[in-house]
Amino acid sequence: MIIVMNKKASENNIRAVTEKLGKEGFSSHIIRGVEKIVVGAIGDRQTICSMGLELMEGVEKVVPIMKPYKLVSREVKSEDSVININGMEIGGNNFTVIAGPCAVENREQLLLAAEGVKAAGAKVLRGGAFKPRTSPYSFQGLEKKGLEFLAEARDLTGLKIITEVIDSYSLEMALDYVDIIQIGARNMQNFQLLRLAGKSQKPVVLKRGLSATVEEWLMAAEYIMSEGNYQVILCERGIRTFETATRNTLDISSVPLIKRLSHLPIIVDPSHAAGDWHLVPPLAKAALAVGADGIMVEVHPNPMQAMCDGPQSLSIKKFTAMTEELKPLAALLSRQI
Ligand code: PEP
Ligand code: MN
Repeated sequence: MIIVMNKKASENNIRAVTEKLGKEGFSSHIIRGVEKIVVGAIGDRQTICSMGLELMEGVEKVVPIMKPYKLVSREVKSEDSVININGMEIGGNNFTVIAGPCAVENREQLLLAAEGVKAAGAKVLRGGAFKPRTSPYSFQGLEKKGLEFLAEARDLTGLKIITEVIDSYSLEMALDYVDIIQIGARNMQNFQLLRLAGKSQKPVVLKRGLSATVEEWLMAAEYIMSEGNYQVILCERGIRTFETATRNTLDISSVPLIKRLSHLPIIVDPSHAAGDWHLVPPLAKAALAVGADGIMVEVHPNPMQAMCDGPQSLSIKKFTAMTEELKPLAALLSRQI
């Protein structure tokens, strides 16, 4: 249910509503939009309806939310959410470019990538320190050392940094270093991890699961938000289909669909979707054209020598050429890179 407060509602009125809900055992979430403030109340509809909330001062109406996801839904917040990452914003008019290697391999590789992507217009540096690999024999990441290199790259370039976390151990460790945590496709339905990310209060990029429906993906975002962390950015990274010519199939239609269903920003990862660097620039353009709030791209100073995902990684030169093509297109669409 959402309790819509009227324009004249005071902070005391809002507190009275959340306290009443709390006394009945319901958790409540205050969502502050530009137009209105609403209180999202999660719990049994019948009971909430019978509490007489409409009669309280400052309350305009009490409305049920029809969708299974609540806090994520546009029904709760009609305007787009903009996520503030220590002074840098994702959402709104921004088309945020996140770029960097699949995995942090060593200091030199990461610093070269960081300087290259920064010069080309990226705002966030990606780099896996904990790698969820299909094979247990593949490189699993540098862990703490990788986080230290990422932090050093941030200090040198001013880029924000993001890394994937795969369990409570990696989450705890990453929180001390990164600006954004990434939950990868393989962990999209790791509900325990989602809850922990929700408790963390760090912005989260939540990637779509390999075979997840849009609704399952939004429910995963709901897990994070239900713990009080509203800083969620969705990331479409392709889904599994019968097609084997590409690594995954980029479900580009999920972008406008998510925009209709949710107020959360959504970015696109063309690298993991395609599995082939040739396809990355055209898919990045598609992401921009279809209304995504940014892209996450794999870039390596020497893709041929990458320990992970080399075939889908752009060299710094190719990445720079791509962003040079994206910039005028973004301007045409009133988006800022
Ligand atoms: C990644 O971004 O490094 C990654 C592993 O991607 P995904 O979770 O989308 O497979
Ligand atoms: Mn990768």
